[in-house]
Amino acid sequence: MPADLLRQVWGFDGFRPGQQQIVETVAQGRDVLAIMPTGGGKSLCYQLPALMREGVTVVISPLIALMRDQVRALREAGVAAGALTSGNTQDETDQVFQALGQGGLKLLYMAPERLASGGTVNLLRRAGVTAIAVDEAHCVSQWGHDFRPDYLRIGELKRALDVPLAAFTATADAETRAEIVARLFDGREPMTFLRGFDRPNIRLAFQPKDSPRRQLMDFVAARRGQSGIIYCGSRARTETLAAALNEAGHSAVAYHGGMEAEPRREVEARFQREDGLIVVATVAFGMGIDKPDIRWVAHADLPKSIEAYYQEIGRAGRDGDPAETLTLYGPDDIRLRRTQIDEGLADAARKGADHARLNALLGLAEATGCRRRRLLAYFGEEMSGDCGNCDLCQSPPQLFDGTEAVRKALSAMLRTGEWFGSGHLIDILTGSATAKVRERGHDRLPTFGVGQDFSRSQWQAIFRQMMGLDLCRPDPERHGALHLTDAAHPILRGEDRVTLRHDTAMRARAGNVVRA
Ligand code: ADP
Ligand code: ZN
Repeated sequence: MPADLLRQVWGFDGFRPGQQQIVETVAQGRDVLAIMPTGGGKSLCYQLPALMREGVTVVISPLIALMRDQVRALREAGVAAGALTSGNTQDETDQVFQALGQGGLKLLYMAPERLASGGTVNLLRRAGVTAIAVDEAHCVSQWGHDFRPDYLRIGELKRALDVPLAAFTATADAETRAEIVARLFDGREPMTFLRGFDRPNIRLAFQPKDSPRRQLMDFVAARRGQSGIIYCGSRARTETLAAALNEAGHSAVAYHGGMEAEPRREVEARFQREDGLIVVATVAFGMGIDKPDIRWVAHADLPKSIEAYYQEIGRAGRDGDPAETLTLYGPDDIRLRRTQIDEGLADAARKGADHARLNALLGLAEATGCRRRRLLAYFGEEMSGDCGNCDLCQSPPQLFDGTEAVRKALSAMLRTGEWFGSGHLIDILTGSATAKVRERGHDRLPTFGVGQDFSRSQWQAIFRQMMGLDLCRPDPERHGALHLTDAAHPILRGEDRVTLRHDTAMRARAGNVVRA
């Protein structure tokens, strides 16, 4: 029966991944939390069950324009729907009340502000509301950017009406999920669905920064004439990179939050309109961009979290045709991102969570197997096999047991009081008696020269991977001095082993292969 309604009312041939199960569970009157990416088809997941159930489903949504669009579309499809929002004319409001009184509505859209007025609960009770749907449920999270205080009243509404609630959001991180459960469901776990995060047409690839400018230029040159976005970590970099691309004969423009509104709008309009334009941007670019044929997205610098990475690469290939991504990262990026978190205004718990999100991204960068599997696993979605459409599936890296090397590096760190950055530590490991090394007496340490079986650049790659695995972290207050994390101790004690990759930077620069 859901499939019939899907065809008759919406004219769709089948469900999108995950939709059917959510529709059925909501229709059964169970509490549901569904996490689906933007454009995944969430609205159908509460609209269709509303038609299968007795009574009215009230839909709480923060965006008036969106509510009006949906109501219009539903009415055109012959569904009795109405909205109570501040944008209504008196006439429209009267009509909605009349329809409610006669039991003639299936879906009632409502702005959260409406819940603040005393009569609303009684009105909804009298109208025979039998279910609540909440769109953009992450608006209940005080941590998020979209916090809407009136969303906090939804929990009360559910209690007062004693009806099932289905909450929808595209925000997938565990913390926000927990807040939604606490605030909308009184802490009682709803049936949770997390679906459709895979974008199989997008190829995933990461590269350690070797010569970043050349790596980007090569990537872009191979895609001449295609529309793409390059995300940069700073405003200044967007300008210099755009200039370099233009010089190389590409058509590129910079875009960042420091620009006036007018030139920004101009870039957005050009990107939408032109074929083959490259926008070199900070994260300020993308929110309102609805261009289906973006063929590639590159990150010139490491994004700030795995969520940010997913969002940004997700702008490519909306049309479903093949799209490519490349993310560059290096130790400086890791240091910068850690510093940004540590120096931010958030409280300790929040900072811990932000470090964890960054770690998840670094883990993806330093992955030793299929990247898509790892990315989706982070969002709670399991893949049955490897994807075949990421750099690691296509050319599996050579791995080696790096336990010994990592132990040497960690013990050099410990013996020097966790007071130095990787450069000095590498001097010690490779036995190079620089002035600084001699001054500090580090040439007399037992670790001095124990790492001569690796070259300097190989050691750099090892340190980067150690940071990626969060075995050590740079300390922003000590100019990036590295200190051990809790994860390092089992390795030092010989209880844990580490697998490392011979990556491209290691092979290209070192010439010889690292000994296993
Ligand atoms: P979001 O998850 O961002 O709220 P929407 O509910 O607006 O997404 O759906 C995104 C688009 O996908 C809409 O144009 C919708 O009509 C379309 N859509 C949703 N479900 C299906 C389906 N089963 N088959 C085809 N198109 C669908
Ligand atoms: Zn893969």
